[in-house]
Amino acid sequence: MSSLSPLPSRAPLVAPWPPPARSRPIMPFFLPFQGCPTRCVFCAQDMQTGQSGFRPDTNGMLGKVRAALELRAARGLPPAELAFYGGTFTALPDAEREVCLKFAAAALARGHIVGFRCSTRPDCLDAGAMSRLRQAGCTTVELGVQSFADAALRAARRGYDGAAALRACALVRASGLRLGVQLLPGMPGVSPEVFLADVAQALEAGADMLRFYPCLVLAGTGLARLWRAGEYAPWDMESTLDSLTSGWLLARAAHTPVIRMGLAPEASLAGVVLAGPVHPALGARVMGRALLATVRSLAARAPAGRLAERLEAPRACQGYFWGHAGELRSAWAALGLGANEVRYTGDAALRLWLRP
Ligand code: SF4
Repeated sequence: MSSLSPLPSRAPLVAPWPPPARSRPIMPFFLPFQGCPTRCVFCAQDMQTGQSGFRPDTNGMLGKVRAALELRAARGLPPAELAFYGGTFTALPDAEREVCLKFAAAALARGHIVGFRCSTRPDCLDAGAMSRLRQAGCTTVELGVQSFADAALRAARRGYDGAAALRACALVRASGLRLGVQLLPGMPGVSPEVFLADVAQALEAGADMLRFYPCLVLAGTGLARLWRAGEYAPWDMESTLDSLTSGWLLARAAHTPVIRMGLAPEASLAGVVLAGPVHPALGARVMGRALLATVRSLAARAPAGRLAERLEAPRACQGYFWGHAGELRSAWAALGLGANEVRYTGDAALRLWLRP
């Protein structure tokens, strides 16, 4: 901001704020509900993946993926990572899973992908499955853990307990593959405290990446029936934002990225969310709060009576700094920081300068 005078020479309070690692392009291949041993109470994969009322023709859809990968290569774009999402990949019928694995291995051999990832349940993995995945070029297994808390897993009728979820995490790690852990804050039995314990447990289990999907009530699910009967209430938006902010900060402290917060805003999802903390900018709102919390902690270290004079923040924060529709402006103002006191820089750190 050109109106700012040169910075004083005294030292600022500093906190690192590295930009998120650049993620590789993902080529998703959705297999909604395929291989799932049960229909979980909260899940509507057909709506979440935009493939409602549709049972995928695996060969036909892989043909479309092949065409898209070839187009990327013809345009000189870098190879993508293939992702088998939306169901329980390791529990697909053997023949169907082999078709997918051979497709991935061939795409890898042609240099059209750099590898693939898949999502699955913690109770549908064994050493043999891991070995076959690795042999075909799998790099990452994303486990739909949802929670490590036995009571929550029982309440959501997931069919496994926390110990099984931990064993699955250990199996992925022992196989040399990267581990993704998906958590479901607000799932029946998951309070904000349980969610934070789940984040800590996932990090301790060696997660290389996390996803937070706040639990929504989607039409046609078992959860919708529980909600209508008054037996389930989703988290409100403020509790969700607060909890995800705390979870995101825990992950940041462990240098573990949270690669998704909230369901992707598929058009098919819009009409089926009956209740729950849904917002198209959920991730950005959480990041804004996490940034604010970090600067608040810096300000709390200031000697008594020393007020904030200005803040330097990485340029990459500009999109979420003030919050969605400026919702954080008053909180920033309470710290003495308005638009004239904030300067964006190319550094990966927050620097809070105090008045003399
Ligand atoms: S949550 Fe996972 S295992 Fe359960 S129905 Fe959905 S995709 Fe299948």
